[in-house]
Amino acid sequence: MLPDIENLLKLQEVDKEIRRLQDEIAQFPKRIATIEQQLAGHKAQLETAQAAVKTDEAARRKHDTTISDLRGKISKYRDQSLDVKTNDQYKALLAEIQFAEKEIAATEDKILELMLNSDARDKQVKAAQAELKAESAEIEKEKEEARQRTAEDQKLLADWNAKRDQIRTAVNDDLLRHYERVSKFRGSGISEVRDHQCMACRVMLRPQTYNEVRGGQQTIVCDSCQRILYFNPAEELLDLKPSTTRAKRHHPKIDAPQAWYYRAEFGGIGEVFLCLTTARGQSSRRVYDVQTGRLIGDILIREGDYRQAFPEDITGAMRLNGGWTEAELDAFGTELPMVALDSLRSDLDLARHEAASGSHAKSATAVTEQAAG
Ligand SMILES: [Zn+2]
Repeated sequence: MLPDIENLLKLQEVDKEIRRLQDEIAQFPKRIATIEQQLAGHKAQLETAQAAVKTDEAARRKHDTTISDLRGKISKYRDQSLDVKTNDQYKALLAEIQFAEKEIAATEDKILELMLNSDARDKQVKAAQAELKAESAEIEKEKEEARQRTAEDQKLLADWNAKRDQIRTAVNDDLLRHYERVSKFRGSGISEVRDHQCMACRVMLRPQTYNEVRGGQQTIVCDSCQRILYFNPAEELLDLKPSTTRAKRHHPKIDAPQAWYYRAEFGGIGEVFLCLTTARGQSSRRVYDVQTGRLIGDILIREGDYRQAFPEDITGAMRLNGGWTEAELDAFGTELPMVALDSLRSDLDLARHEAASGSHAKSATAVTEQAAG
């Protein structure tokens, strides 16, 4: 691996940690603001409860005045009753006294109601006060914690920033600018390549690009997402281990009129894809270069089903998924389009993983075929 790549990987880790710390630091004031908002809500509740107590107290004072006024009236009526001359006058005063006494009783009932109410209100106020006190203490504690954490984070941040500056000086300037530009837009500036794929944007790499990334002699960027690409051989080994999370491979039909095969060695050329097609009692064979997708040699036509027509090509070959019509194959001309080549290559990868993990031992024949008869 190029030292620049190693440094960029370190830089990416450092950048991630810096972002995490910055986010955390930004979270503290938000959290405090939320608690303070709650606190303000409870303060308002307390004030409402206290105001209600004051209103009740005022009402109570008013009722007390009413009663003492009524008592004054009664005593005045009693004094007047001593001087009355007629029975009617006496009855009238008595009625006034009775009326005032009734009013006193009604007002006393109201006072009693207020007294009962005030007990409940006092309890409410006391509870709200206690809650507020506990909450205030809690928020002070939280504020203090946030203050400490912020200070710690800021110290860590300073350390990480120093580390970051140090790593940055070790990376080629142009590459660093590219990394930072892509990071800013995409959140990361470097991506691993696995299974011929950019792991960040999932686009398949061209064979030449893939080989260059694997070679690790120069820095290559992904055509699609512009991230700087790197290859980690250790990850590839891990990837070859059997994995249950790997997508299950779809298996080609034995009796399909068209079959694709992979051969690691063919006629001294090297790796090839073979396309065998049977139609109207005849079979055709096309040979394509695995790396470039180019058609090698002429299209060979023989009589009969392809299994009988090309047994030597099938034996020991790896059967792949692929199905294009004769017309499509003709339209491809002398070179497979990227989409077809990618599809064959990714199926080849899956077939290899399958073979390596032995997860499909029962249909091993579907992986490495035997020619019929
Ligand atoms: Zn990419």
